[in-house]
Amino acid sequence: LSERLGGVFERLTKQGALSEDDVRTALREVRVALLEADVSLPVARDFVARVQEKATGQSVTRSVTPGQQVVKIVNDELTATLRGEGDPGALKIDSPPAPILMVGLQGGGKTTTTAKIAKRLAERERKRVLMASLDTNRPAAMEQLAILGQQIGVDTLPIVPGETPVQIARRAKAQAALAGYDVYMLDTAGRLSIDEELMAQVEAVRDVASPRETLLVVDGLTGQDAVTTAENFDERIGITGVVLTRMDGDGRGGAALSMRAVTGKPIRFVGTGEKLDALETFEPERIAGRILGMGDIVALVEKAQETIEAEQAERMMKRFQKGQFNMNDLRMQIEQMQKMGGMESVMGMMPGMAKMSKQVAEAGLDDRLLKRQLALISSMTKQERANPGILQASRKKRIARGAGLEVSQLNQLLKMHRQMSDMMKKMGRMKGGMLRQAMRG
Ligand code: GDP
Ligand code: MG
Repeated sequence: LSERLGGVFERLTKQGALSEDDVRTALREVRVALLEADVSLPVARDFVARVQEKATGQSVTRSVTPGQQVVKIVNDELTATLRGEGDPGALKIDSPPAPILMVGLQGGGKTTTTAKIAKRLAERERKRVLMASLDTNRPAAMEQLAILGQQIGVDTLPIVPGETPVQIARRAKAQAALAGYDVYMLDTAGRLSIDEELMAQVEAVRDVASPRETLLVVDGLTGQDAVTTAENFDERIGITGVVLTRMDGDGRGGAALSMRAVTGKPIRFVGTGEKLDALETFEPERIAGRILGMGDIVALVEKAQETIEAEQAERMMKRFQKGQFNMNDLRMQIEQMQKMGGMESVMGMMPGMAKMSKQVAEAGLDDRLLKRQLALISSMTKQERANPGILQASRKKRIARGAGLEVSQLNQLLKMHRQMSDMMKKMGRMKGGMLRQAMRG
């Protein structure tokens, strides 16, 4: 992807802000990359639309290319989408014995993952864990779990031939309570595909155990099928999280994005091999990097941005002290405000501005206003930006029209510029570190 984007952007002239066309061109490639990484079409489409909106108009940091900049924006949005709420690895296993129900299709990795999670709970959290196999379908399934249990030193419920899954679940529950286990894990049977018999069985088990966690285990290599499976299980059984297995393979992790976007369920763990410690807490940054395959570009852009921001702040401060504050400065301020969570919060942080911050809040000056102001500044000429004093009626009309806004709205902006300019002068004269402090937040 990085090469492709690089190519696209070589043809673009370097300019201050990402235009809608720049972004659109780049995102066409991003969309292809997402589809190649196994992200489903509607999810990819929706995702690209969101990035398009976020990226357009963002300024390009010096020392990185627009292509790299877009990659960074894509990466941030990917990470945000992949991240669920809370700590993915923290299972709800208070009030012992806490039941964990493991569900999924046959061959997805349920039994292996049951043992992996049990091992983790036993080793890292010092929990006493009991595992029980409810798989009465496959001949050797129960023995498989018993053998894994021996390998990791975790108890398994003794096998009683002829019991139904519901009977085994009851026995596991009773045994866990009786023997003082912290957690008991129920490893259910799977099928090759979803069918009524399987669902009814899992449902009955669920009703017996009232699990604290119901984890769906799916093969991450199966892409869209994994997402459909998750939707089905969630609808019928209700799941609290997803484990994606076989993430050690050459799959590109796209299933994770679709999974999050479609089901909204948190991905808790990823399986990264057959060994019993090959289980990792889900890390959105890592999977995002894998989908895009370009973690280092992201770090580069972040670094460049930090440096530039510090340099800008220093330069601006010197100018303010000399009483210079033009539309370019105002634009930077507005962009900073957007980044820092809007005008109200920024003004609230600046000394002596608490009152103004309240007025801002009361006047309903929100992000839309900031966007309008940026549009107005964009439609000024370079000269006008450097010296807003030259703005008479005809220029004003042109600027307002260019931004699709009213002259009165431009006048508001100019008034705000004058007020801020005055204030900057005063603060500059104070010479103290106040402005510096305020600007650095
Ligand atoms: P179940 O039918 O859902 O219980 O699936 P199993 O736990 O029996 O796993 C089926 C196969 O997948 C076994 O050979 C496992 O070793 C393998 N497996 C499970 N998880 C992973 C994983 O994360 N990576 C790899 N490479 N193999 C896995
Ligand atoms: Mg199994």
